[in-house]
Amino acid sequence: MQLMEEKIIAEGQVLPGGILKVGSFLNQMIDTAFLKEMSEEIARLYADCGVSKILTIESSGISIATAVGMQMGVPVVFAKKHKTSNVDGAVYSTSVHSFTHNTDYTVVVSSDYLLAGDNVLLVDDFLANGKALLGLIDLAEQAGASVSGAAVAIEKGFQGGGDKLRAQGVRVESLAIIDSMTDTDVTFRP
Ligand code: 5GP
Repeated sequence: MQLMEEKIIAEGQVLPGGILKVGSFLNQMIDTAFLKEMSEEIARLYADCGVSKILTIESSGISIATAVGMQMGVPVVFAKKHKTSNVDGAVYSTSVHSFTHNTDYTVVVSSDYLLAGDNVLLVDDFLANGKALLGLIDLAEQAGASVSGAAVAIEKGFQGGGDKLRAQGVRVESLAIIDSMTDTDVTFRP
């Protein structure tokens, strides 16, 4: 998506450790007009897949997942990082390694919201090593749901998670794939 590449060039900030900061349009302030365009593009890519639910992980995936859910007319479920009092009863849970915090955490989703027979589209803001998406695939498998594929706003191709998932047969669509980035330069995969 040309517009995503332009947005990253104009507003993205490369932080130490291979982190791209996009707080001005996706991760803290949300550019709602741009969010609409992103979600329209993702909905178009998966229009014919019979998606019944969007599945994401809190918290930074929720805004884009919700926008996609609105475009596709389906509910959005997000895996929670802690089992709180509003997630009671049976849950599916899995462990995810956080690239940004360099720690493992457990995510849970209530078995009431992810059902056998669901066909889920995974949506997240970033794809780096692929651990968050693998965790979501695990949750979907525990529920007996099928996975149409994954859609992410920004894939950091140099970390390899997207290509590993593709090699496993998962359809992964990214609005921009960064092949390399330095303080001064970001290169996209054509
Ligand atoms: P993965 O699990 O694929 O290694 O990392 C994806 C998760 O880590 C995303 O849910 C996202 O929140 C976070 N993440 C990974 N890389 C970046 C980055 O460069 N910038 C930001 N803002 N988040 C990232």
